[in-house]
Amino acid sequence: METKHYAVALDGPSGAGKSTLAKAVAKELGIMYVDTGAIYRVIGLAARRSGIKPRDEAAVTALLPSLDVRMEHGTDGVQRMYLGGEDVSDEIRLPEISMYASAVSAHAPVRTFLLEMQRKLAREQNVIMDGRDIGTVVLPDAEVKIFLTADVEVRAKRRFLELEQRGTPKPYDEVLAELRERDWNDTHRDVAPLREAEDAVRADTSNLDFEQSTALILQIIRERAGL
Ligand code: C5P
Repeated sequence: METKHYAVALDGPSGAGKSTLAKAVAKELGIMYVDTGAIYRVIGLAARRSGIKPRDEAAVTALLPSLDVRMEHGTDGVQRMYLGGEDVSDEIRLPEISMYASAVSAHAPVRTFLLEMQRKLAREQNVIMDGRDIGTVVLPDAEVKIFLTADVEVRAKRRFLELEQRGTPKPYDEVLAELRERDWNDTHRDVAPLREAEDAVRADTSNLDFEQSTALILQIIRERAGL
């Protein structure tokens, strides 16, 4: 039985395939998958519902104390997100929430508000946590840090197909433009910008399919965590 405690920090730009790969890897290793983007999406949704401009830091910050944000993992390992007790797991996936999440996540008070929730999960069990600042800020001591990336056109194509499959299609050019904008937002913000941790292993999946990418990530984790 595996008793070693470890955490895998999986960071990278939007659409790199972090969540799909992390889910598969978590299942294979029997550890918990934590999708941190989902928490920023809940804050984005709350801002939208309140009619607040997501770039208005003062207004978003004023909203935070009234928010009851919870994350739960069912016995099936699936993560669900709750806002004030309401299950918003599906609503936060709506394409328009992505830009809200990206905008609210640039505010330092938002990041501080969510930090402990993320760290607590990693203290309690073995996790693979995906996000933008997991290896640099949330879990700087993680045993394994992976920076997952792919060319922006490849990511846009994957996201385009995913949206189509979900029944919420969008023109490719729009998907690409939005990804570029999110990349810019995530890498240029003052607090916890997306950047590769010095001790992260870089995994570029531009030319890899799902199976090859999964195998690569598993190999890195097994080597680094000494499994
Ligand atoms: O990963 P996902 O696309 O669901 O994340 C939504 C947004 O939340 C991202 O565009 C990013 O700006 C933000 N985010 C973040 N830090 C994380 C995870 C997500 O800033 N750890």
